[in-house]
Amino acid sequence: MAKLKSVFVCQQCGQEFPRWAGQCGNCSAWNSLVEEVKEKEPTAGLQRQATPSEVITFPEVERVRRPKARFSTGISELDRVLGGQNNELGMVAGAVMLIGGEPGIGKSTLLTQVALHAVEYGTAPLTKKATGRVLYVAGEESPSQIALRISRIIDSESKKTKGNPAEKAKKPSQGVMEHLLFTTSTDVDRVIQTIKTEKPSLVIIDSIQTMTTTDLTGTAGSVGQIRETAERLTQVAKELDIPLFLVGHVTKEGELAGPKVLEHIVDSVLEMRGERTSELRILRAIKNRFGATDEVGVFKMTEFGFISVDNPAEYFLEHRNIPTVGSATVCVMEGTRPLLLEVQALVVPSQLAMPRRVGRGVDLSKIQIIAAVLQKYSRMPLSSYDLFVSVAGGFVTKEPSIDLGIALAIASSLSNSPLPPQTAAIGEVGLLGEIRSVTLAERRLKEAKRLGMKNIISKQSHSTVAAALIQFGLQYKPKKRNVLVAEDEDFD
Ligand SMILES: [Zn+2]
Repeated sequence: MAKLKSVFVCQQCGQEFPRWAGQCGNCSAWNSLVEEVKEKEPTAGLQRQATPSEVITFPEVERVRRPKARFSTGISELDRVLGGQNNELGMVAGAVMLIGGEPGIGKSTLLTQVALHAVEYGTAPLTKKATGRVLYVAGEESPSQIALRISRIIDSESKKTKGNPAEKAKKPSQGVMEHLLFTTSTDVDRVIQTIKTEKPSLVIIDSIQTMTTTDLTGTAGSVGQIRETAERLTQVAKELDIPLFLVGHVTKEGELAGPKVLEHIVDSVLEMRGERTSELRILRAIKNRFGATDEVGVFKMTEFGFISVDNPAEYFLEHRNIPTVGSATVCVMEGTRPLLLEVQALVVPSQLAMPRRVGRGVDLSKIQIIAAVLQKYSRMPLSSYDLFVSVAGGFVTKEPSIDLGIALAIASSLSNSPLPPQTAAIGEVGLLGEIRSVTLAERRLKEAKRLGMKNIISKQSHSTVAAALIQFGLQYKPKKRNVLVAEDEDFD
């Protein structure tokens, strides 16, 4: 038997320490260390009686390596994010999938839809028509609140809606709803017993922050409880080969509560984002043991739940056909999919000694670098202007390929002249003002053309940002009386 030892774990950041201290040495939180029982690993280096480690032959590796069968969640964009190949996308048996996001963003609605699909069609890949039981562990809401949501989703079935017709909520067949089981228990050990007796084909835990085990003294939502309960649930999911969804709320700082500890336990971490005011939601895979990370799904929130958006450009590209000052179209790769987005910039004279640089969906440092490039190589007096740059639709991206679009949008706003319609910019901007090529340029180009873009500005068309600006009439045109001042003072 392995020996038991105890460690002190910071409840704020999850860091372990061999002995207690008043302050965490990692995150500097006070009184955050809590003792936890830990199985002692055999000390390395000591001579001990060991059994030989198991070996497997290459054919066995090949057999294990073969992809597991997947089954659809009923929502094509969610299937895409969960991963798979070609037409076989979706969940894998025994996979533990965490869906994180701000409270109220729609995680529960999405998973309710998944539950409804699963009771109707089952989740057993070989017996697609078999109805499986679904266990919904409702720690956040009462079953009657969930029932209300379910009837809202189902009742709107008759309403005519846009979107993927295959995904329209269908009235479940007679008797099927009896397979949708609820429990409001937040005691993880009791929930696990329920899973073992009911053997559902899908489990949804809403949310992991409400789960506790009496083996720990911490309150629900503490790091210790989150980790321990998630570990126990993961174990039972693997044991019974049941796919399991965990809902996880993010903190105000935008991190998944239970910092990082969950990421190591679960198979997939999906993050749901979107602006409250917008009907659009973006689901991104941050970690995915069964698929590509950075894969993105786009949904539209409707009165009866989520609909997959197959063609996100219509939401992200409001101004592609109208010449608009301060707007540029870019093409980013999100996972395997090229996405066209609108970048907007607003450039106004600053009243401040330190002009403002504000970015939404874009890194601030990126804006600063591009502003410096424009100032140096295109003689734009941006040091006396406030700069606001945002990606339309609430999208967040770190892709270098949006650089050129940002530069063009800024130049367009400053010069007060729009880019021609149906123009897309694809390129990174270097510190020397050069346009650099980006990865997967062919696929981006194809997508841009598919969506009607006629002018593509890239390294192929222009070697420098300054050259592109001149061609499209976006270069800085100082007012006559400012010419001397601008040339003398600003740019040497
Ligand atoms: Zn700490």
